Formats: sequence, C-alpha cells, structure tokens
Amino acid sequence: MAPSRDKFISIFISLALIIIPTHILLSLISKQQISPSDALRLYGAAIAALNIAILFAWYAQGTAGGILASAIAVVAALWLVLKMAHHYGSLLLIATFFPTNLLGYICSKTKESLISQRSLNLEKLEESINLLSESIGVRKKEAVSLGEKLRRYAVLKEAAESLSTTLLLNEVTRPVIEKTPTVIGKSGRVLIFLVDMESQELMLSASSDNLRILAKKGDIYDLWALRHRRSLIANDITKDFRFPSVEIEKTQEFFRSLIIAPLVSEHKTIGLLRMDSMYEGQFTQDDLRLLDIISGLAATAIQNTRLYSRTQELAIRDGLTGLLVRRYFLSRFQEEVHRAARSKAPLTLIFLDIDHYKSFNDRFGHAAGDLVLKHLARIISSMTKEGDIPGRYGGEEIALLNIGMGKPQASNFAEALRRRVKKEPFILRRQRHNITISIGLSNYPDDAVSVEDLIRIADERLYKAKEDGRDRVCSG
Ligand code: GH3
Ligand code: MG
Ligand code: MG
Repeated sequence: MAPSRDKFISIFISLALIIIPTHILLSLISKQQISPSDALRLYGAAIAALNIAILFAWYAQGTAGGILASAIAVVAALWLVLKMAHHYGSLLLIATFFPTNLLGYICSKTKESLISQRSLNLEKLEESINLLSESIGVRKKEAVSLGEKLRRYAVLKEAAESLSTTLLLNEVTRPVIEKTPTVIGKSGRVLIFLVDMESQELMLSASSDNLRILAKKGDIYDLWALRHRRSLIANDITKDFRFPSVEIEKTQEFFRSLIIAPLVSEHKTIGLLRMDSMYEGQFTQDDLRLLDIISGLAATAIQNTRLYSRTQELAIRDGLTGLLVRRYFLSRFQEEVHRAARSKAPLTLIFLDIDHYKSFNDRFGHAAGDLVLKHLARIISSMTKEGDIPGRYGGEEIALLNIGMGKPQASNFAEALRRRVKKEPFILRRQRHNITISIGLSNYPDDAVSVEDLIRIADERLYKAKEDGRDRVCSG
C-alpha cells in the first residue's frame, strides 16, 4: 500500500472514532431519547473511543497527528460536556486524554525508533549486499582473466614443447608466428627478423602477413631494438618522439602500435620478434613481457637449428677448402647421374690436379701448400654456377660436377678455369706465386653413363694431361 494512502486511511479512522460516537451521543441528547445517567455512561464509552482515536493518531501519524487528534477530541468532548447534565463528572473524564497522550507519545517514539533502526539495518544490509556483489564481480573478472592466462600459458607450453623438438628453421618460425597472437591474446601482425651472419643486417625470416611489409631489412623500430639490444613498446608511433617524424609518416598507414623483443642467444642478438597492430594502444607492458618469454624460447630453438645445420655442414664439407668431402661428393654424383638419366640432360665430371704440388710443399712447407689449396678452391667456387657440385676428391685433387653442361661447353669451361688459375697469383711471404693445374674430364652421356666409368675416364684423361706436359685440359 502506498504511504499517502496509508496516511489518509489512518486520518479517516481517527476522525471516524471521534466524530461518530460524538455525533451519535449529541443527537441522542438533543432528541432527549436517553436519561442523564445513561448519557453519562454513553459519554464514558465515547471518551474511550476518543482515547482510542488519540492513541491511534499518535501511532499512525506521529506527533502532529496525535496532537491534532487530541485537540479535536478535546473540542468534541467539551461540546458533549456542554450538552450533558453532569458537567463535573464528565469534565473529569477529559483528564484521561493526558495519560493517553503520554502513552501515544511513547508509542509513536518507540515506533519511530524501531522504524529508523529497521531502515538503518536495511541500509547496512543493502551496503553489504552491494559490497558482496561488487566483490563477486571482481572475483568473476579475476576468474575470467585467470582462465585466460591459463589458456595462454597452455599455448606457450605447447609452443615451447614443439620448439624444443625441431631442428629445422621454418619449423621454429612457423609456430612462433602462429602462436604469438594467441599467447599475447591480441590480434596483429607477427614478424621474425634474423641477423644475417655475413652482412650483420636484419633480414625478414618469417611473417604472418607478407604483403604489407615494406622494410624486409627492418624499419627504424627494428633497428632501434637491435641497436639498443632492448625490448621496445610504442603505443602510438605518431606521438613517439624517440623516432624521426619523416620515418613515422612512411610507416603509420601500416601500423600504429608495436612491441619488439630481441632474440638473444648466448649474449648475442640473433634477431627480433615483433608484433604490430593497425590500432593505437593495442599493447601493454604485460604483453611485452610475454613477447620476451616467447622470444627467449624462439632464440634458443633458432640457435639449435643453426648449430644443427652447422654440424651437418661440417660433416659434409672439407674443413680446409669448404668443398664437399669425397664420400658426400660421390653420393651426390650418383644422385645426379640418376637425375640426368631421367631428364636426359648432360653433365660433366671435371678432375683437376695441381702441377708439381709436391715440390711446392717441399719448398715452402705444408702450411703454404694448404694456402694454395684454399686459393684454388676459391677460384673454383667463384666460377661455378648454382647447382654445380665441387668436391675435394683426394689430397690435392679436386672434382667438379657441371650439371647440364655438354662436352664442348664443359671443355671451354675447363680451359677458362685452367687459364684463370695460371693467371691469378696468390701472395706468399710477400711474394706473388702462380700455379698451374691439369684437367681431365668425362661427359654423361657422350663418354659414359655410369659413375664408375665417368670417374675412370676423367682420371685417365687427367693422367694424359700430366703426361702431355701438364697445364692443359684433356677432354678425349
Ligand atoms: P704432379 O704434377 O704430377 O701432380 O706432381 P705433384 O707433385 O703434384 O704430385 P701429386 O699430384 O701426386 O701430389 C701429391 C702431393 O700432394 C703429396 C702431398 O704432399 C700433397 N698433398 C696432398 N694433400 C695435401 C694437403 O692437404 N695439404 C698439403 N699442403 N699438401 C697436400
Ligand atoms: Mg695429385
Ligand atoms: Mg699434382
């Protein structure tokens, strides 16, 4: 029930309790339908009703209602006294209003204090409900973010496991590119740059989006991270005063915020892991910390793949000349002959041997002889095209497989090689020296079709070149 309606009803009841008995008694007295003694008895009952009205008004409407009801009751009672025969007796009864008022006052105050106590309790209850629902909200958010963190770490663990089991570079970079956005929990482009061993420049190794990359050798931000060997976070590159505005203008249409972590292995920066986004303020310090963790894992895995390929290289390459060792050369030779048989493409085996090498060794020493071998290997490597296979066949005997070369072409090549070796001096003890070589060659399919026959024929022709006076090519 609405409070105003409550008030109206209570006023109505109070007035009814005063007016109705007063009116009935007045009309009875004025019509002289009752005796004076009955009137006095009924007057007592009316006073009782008025007392109830006063009490009710105090209780229902508080101090104002109680005083007003008392005033009306006094007026009504006095009016009745005037009409009554027993003035003194009835006047006395009006005195009952005083204790009634006192009782009403106490009732009203008790009610008020009960109400205020209740509303205080209610407020406290509401407050603690609010606090509780607030902390439930916070806990819920915490639970969601913990769940999210757990999910990210699970992905990180999975990535770490897959990285630790692979020895191929692209099997390291691919999962790093794929998993980084999931671990960070943001969308964006991921790039991996590696430092080129020879040029010491950054080179793009892998990325999640190859189309929008302008600087394959890294941009100002990558170079900053490389130079400072530090992680970098740029929340809005257009407002970042660390970088020149001209450079920023070139890049801002491709990304607005980025994080970069250097790939460090054995105290050396071997590359960078970068994530950028088209939106500003996309990354936080927490994201950068996670990127640092991923880059640590990736750097170790990348270094492992490099060590593995170096070990493999060492197993197949001769330490002095860098050419293939005999065993590996022969297996490649076998493969190439099979391939030539299928493709019907020619190939030429060239055997070359340094003239009077023994006496050179005797004169200048073995170390000087090694230098000559290196010099020769360098010339051969510079003259071969991609796909050709040079190998150190014996002590100072070098074999070269010219893929796709017919016999005339291969003879010309051998002749050019011989002439260049003869012409190009090398420095030993501040003196220029020249060597000559003899060459024997055999061609698939002109001379033979099997590995054994091709080797035998090339060897025989080399021997013939030596016999004919050295410093010459014998091709049949
Ligand atoms: P020829 O003109 O007939 O070829 O005469 P040669 O003196 O060059 O004789 P040969 O081809 O038989 O050369 C063999 C020498 O090569 C013997 C050995 O001292 C030298 N030799 C083989 N391997 C190496 C090497 O790794 N380093 C050095 N310094 N010398 C080597
Ligand atoms: Mg020899
Ligand atoms: Mg020799």
